[in-house]
Amino acid sequence: MATARQKSKAPAKTASKRKVPRFSKEDAEEFFACLAKQDPSPKTELQYVNPYTLLVAVALSAQATDKSVNKATEPLFKHVDTPEKMIALGEDKLREAIKTIGLYRTKAANVIATAKMLVENFNSVVPRDREILQTLPGVGRKTANVVLNVAFGEPTIAVDTHIFRVGNRTGLAPGKNVREVEDGLEKIVPEKYLQHAHHWLILHGRYICVARSPRCPDCVVADLCRYPDKTKEPEKEAAPSVLKGKSGKAKGAPRAR
Ligand code: SF4
Repeated sequence: MATARQKSKAPAKTASKRKVPRFSKEDAEEFFACLAKQDPSPKTELQYVNPYTLLVAVALSAQATDKSVNKATEPLFKHVDTPEKMIALGEDKLREAIKTIGLYRTKAANVIATAKMLVENFNSVVPRDREILQTLPGVGRKTANVVLNVAFGEPTIAVDTHIFRVGNRTGLAPGKNVREVEDGLEKIVPEKYLQHAHHWLILHGRYICVARSPRCPDCVVADLCRYPDKTKEPEKEAAPSVLKGKSGKAKGAPRAR
């Protein structure tokens, strides 16, 4: 069967304007089988010690890198790993602890308010329910989906910037907004891959299908991907050009003596 790459013969300049063909269930199965083979048990790169610290770490990671969050939370979570301890720490000290993370003032206020809500309304337990999670300050659908997936093993897909790009670029789940991509992925990802799909797609977008210049030559799903403007292997440094004359002898080549 011809692969998506083989079917795509149009020149790159015009190709990007074409509507990419939809993924079939079989192609989606193969797509995730390739990602699963490469990394059978993908994990979040955020550090956490329990569902509560995961909730805090994910909330802090909005518009920040996991690396920057881990740098701040590693020392913090050694001493502060429950909502009660977070309340005891207080907003000023929390702000100081996370000041290297973008939007830290707002995030500190939200983390403290969330800790208070968890203690007062949920017996200090992180709720295993998307709707309820979204009532916590600073917790949106994406954060709730990550917590449900990572802490509770629910087959949710939290669409971040990487997944949004991969879903659209590959043709796996095109959508104008994150919700469309999330809904598309829920429909197309085979059930047995739903649990890990979130991490496979994030890691793929973070390290291979990167924003500026995707690493298509290194990509295990390149034959299935519908992206018409795939990057190519950089050409090896050309050897000095040697033009041949009519005689078949190389022009400019040293004469035989
Ligand atoms: S890296 Fe290239 S081939 Fe792989 S999914 Fe991204 S655009 Fe497609």
